[in-house]
Amino acid sequence: MIDWLSLLTPKTCSLMSLGGTPDVTWEDVTASLPRLCEHGKLYIFEKYAFGVSYDGRLIELSKGIAVDRFADEKDPVKVTTLAAIALDIALSDGRCKTCNGTGQISRRNGFVECNTCKGTGRAKPISDRHLASWLGVCAKTVKSSWRDRLNALLADYEAYDVELHDALRSGLKH
Ligand SMILES: [Zn+2]
Repeated sequence: MIDWLSLLTPKTCSLMSLGGTPDVTWEDVTASLPRLCEHGKLYIFEKYAFGVSYDGRLIELSKGIAVDRFADEKDPVKVTTLAAIALDIALSDGRCKTCNGTGQISRRNGFVECNTCKGTGRAKPISDRHLASWLGVCAKTVKSSWRDRLNALLADYEAYDVELHDALRSGLKH
């Protein structure tokens, strides 16, 4: 396992995307997450610790986990594509990627409303049609299996987020 802990420099990381807990450092966070698996830890760092990079280890792990989990699927390429989509959704946290969740786009003479999300800052959930075209399957198959698989992968990331938030909450009490 790579020694990612040694790569963490609390000063270069920000916890502000958690809603503002500036008294907590990344050292506190890593100390409170011993139960998280490597996949969970890398995901948390990628999502919340800006500027931390693990050279594709996170996506590699994500794909491997998905392939193991859906071992009954005969086309592993579709499974790894799904894993990449799930990771992408989880990392973006439902934010519109065009405006990074702000709802606005910076122009030379000020800000304009983001066209992609119409100013809401939220990304639209992936439609069956899009999922079908990315995976190269029909929409019916998305409904019967791929949507559930995507939700199963997303549930893992949600669990990691919950773990982090719980750790931060208990960390703040001490
Ligand atoms: Zn937007």
